[in-house]
Amino acid sequence: MAIQGSCLCGTLRYEIDGPFSMMMNCHCSMCRKHHGAPFATFAAAPAEGFRWLSGENAVGVYSSSPQGKRYFCTVCGSVAPLLMPEAGLAVVAAGTLEGDPGIRPQAHMFVGSKAPWYTIPDSLPQHEAYPPEFGDTPTVERPAVSAQPGKALGSCLCGDVAYEITGAPMLMYQCHCSRCRKGRSSAHGANLFYKHDAFRWIRGEEQVVDYQLPQALRFGVAFCRQCGGATPRVSAARGVVVVPAGPLDTDPGMKPMAHIFVASKAPWFEITDAVPQFSELPPPAA
Ligand SMILES: [Zn+2]
Ligand SMILES: [Zn+2]
Ligand SMILES: [Zn+2]
Repeated sequence: MAIQGSCLCGTLRYEIDGPFSMMMNCHCSMCRKHHGAPFATFAAAPAEGFRWLSGENAVGVYSSSPQGKRYFCTVCGSVAPLLMPEAGLAVVAAGTLEGDPGIRPQAHMFVGSKAPWYTIPDSLPQHEAYPPEFGDTPTVERPAVSAQPGKALGSCLCGDVAYEITGAPMLMYQCHCSRCRKGRSSAHGANLFYKHDAFRWIRGEEQVVDYQLPQALRFGVAFCRQCGGATPRVSAARGVVVVPAGPLDTDPGMKPMAHIFVASKAPWFEITDAVPQFSELPPPAA
């Protein structure tokens, strides 16, 4: 059973035969910065069953460590498949899949550097770094998120883009809509909403690509053109800035208030925490 996948903008399209042998949630800071999500979920299947349908030449690459390369769509910033022919594997960001891969997350890895505002709610095994079955795969330094009351600091994967936000966020939602799943290439997004004037670029604003989904009223994502890492998206017209929480280097001091658009959540992801759920948007505040 072949399953297809694509990036948010649709430039990258692929097909993968399966069967999927591995599905992991990774909480490392590099995944959080690349995806912009609380954690990334990867699914692996035999490399020979992977085919590009379109967009292979629009894939950007960033070397995040001597061992690691990160691939992304240069148009929309979605995370692109990682092809490892030497290991016989194709590893895809599960959020970009368009159907049910028939496998469910098996474990959490790199929980040693997970986001402080995210509590792992399920009973899957948790590994500080790589699980033992990955063998002696080299690990790299992954800094934990520090606390800095009253201020949130963030940066992209390569560090070219950095920003700060002062004061408290207004809202924090975990969004399961298909756009967020593709844009963050993960199970769901976790976005903070701040007033526009609380936000300031420290450096690299000119490196930020703002991608507005053509068929959407205002949905879009922003990312660093160098590394593909998710960045805040400023909407001066609406007076807000949407900050993906995954890439933050400090604790924003708020926890997710709701799961939204759960009616379109990924078939492979189960919500197991007690945070309120809304099939689409929550009702307007009273
Ligand atoms: Zn794209
Ligand atoms: Zn990771
Ligand atoms: Zn960057």
